[in-house]
Amino acid sequence: MKTLRVLIVLIIFSTLQTNAQGLISPVIEANNEKNEFSVRCGSYELLKNIEHTCPGFLNYSNSLIKSVAKDADNKSIFDMKNNVYLIPVVFHIVYNNSNVNIPDSVIHDQLAVLNKSFRRTNPDTSNTRPEFYNIVGDAEIMFVLADKDPAGNPTTGITRTNSPIAYFGGTLPYGPGQNQQIIDWINDSLFFNIFRITQDELGGKNAWNPNKYLNIWISDLRIFEPYFNNFLELVFFGLATPPVDHHNWPDSVLQAINEYEQGVIMHFVNVGSNNPNLFPAPYHIYNGLVTTGKLLVHEVGHFLGLRHIWGDGDCTHDDFIYDTPNSDAASQFNCNHNRNSCVDDIYGVDLPDMVENYMDYSSGDCQNSFTIGQIQAMRNVLKIYRPLLAESFIENTEDFELSADNAFEIYPNPTTGEVSVRSAVSQEIIKMNLREIGGSLIKEIKFEDDKNINFEISGANGVYILEIMTKNGRSAIKILKF
Ligand SMILES: [Zn+2]
Repeated sequence: MKTLRVLIVLIIFSTLQTNAQGLISPVIEANNEKNEFSVRCGSYELLKNIEHTCPGFLNYSNSLIKSVAKDADNKSIFDMKNNVYLIPVVFHIVYNNSNVNIPDSVIHDQLAVLNKSFRRTNPDTSNTRPEFYNIVGDAEIMFVLADKDPAGNPTTGITRTNSPIAYFGGTLPYGPGQNQQIIDWINDSLFFNIFRITQDELGGKNAWNPNKYLNIWISDLRIFEPYFNNFLELVFFGLATPPVDHHNWPDSVLQAINEYEQGVIMHFVNVGSNNPNLFPAPYHIYNGLVTTGKLLVHEVGHFLGLRHIWGDGDCTHDDFIYDTPNSDAASQFNCNHNRNSCVDDIYGVDLPDMVENYMDYSSGDCQNSFTIGQIQAMRNVLKIYRPLLAESFIENTEDFELSADNAFEIYPNPTTGEVSVRSAVSQEIIKMNLREIGGSLIKEIKFEDDKNINFEISGANGVYILEIMTKNGRSAIKILKF
């Protein structure tokens, strides 16, 4: 319904504006007068674009998210309890000028924001309003820079490609009076242009196996508009491809979506909370609102199946998640605690619009939560539709016992480097080996008379294996350094 409306609007839209907000954005925005800002997340626009090529796609995609979004009474599929999913990530920085070639420190900061947000360990969770306490949680999903490339060679998890392409939005070849051509160009060319970033031969960088890595491309996504005074228009802050059901969707739908490489694409200014770049006018109004590193949290939410919390429509449109309050529109990149736009019943309560949710368009400052329902959906996507992407490990080492009378624990795990091992019966432990996930030995750790031993993992972030030999046998525990 919504898509139909947008298509109709695209077809009948006849007065493209040449205002400071650019030319493309008003067309996309024309059906949503409530959104005074023009730049947006491109993920749902991508879905609509695929629907345009292949009618029926949105229905299939909706059925996928409905299937992973379990209701509150059906938590049996919810496999939480210290079972942490760990996703290897590669950032592909594709740059034409040095500003876009953002330093490693920004990537590392972004990864930290991503992990804190998904683990609900960010300090600003204290800003979550009490009425949401019982519906938000720790997703137990983590992200680590890949330490092996697809060929098995060591990597930092960051690639840098010097590209001849300055603006991945492309060049708008039309000018004043060519409104229909511009509308057709949006439908036919805009996403193709942006996804050039995923192809070597088109000036981008090929994906690493997207079934096994989360690929995140970073570049300048603006559109160059030579016939409108060389305006540089930003339409999308970022976008993500949705999960796909390869077993149940018709070939025509799969073909349409296969045009787009799986992963996340980000405008370079939106990456990290310590990014040295700012938006120039007229986009300077977004500085501080979408430059907190939270935008990638939002896009990864899309990549793991989530929709916008307002369902991209009025109160009758749903995001298919049972515990997210409905709202009639996106937040306006602000932090409005006074809105309760739709009546809903979540455990018997009509909750206000949840600006705390990462899947709103609220200011990054007030985004601090995923709901339990959203978490269930994302974890089910990892289990069912992206099954090779994440490795799962048991976080809480209390579950590991060599024998009933020889328990030990390892903490903290995950760690930033320091690790302590505590054993109730230390003399039972003969020695410990710290190994890379591939098995090669990093160091032997002597366990002497102490019941506590501390050591440091000084290598790269990632998963390590601590092998513990006792007179009763050998045990191996995964430790995550992040
Ligand atoms: Zn979005």
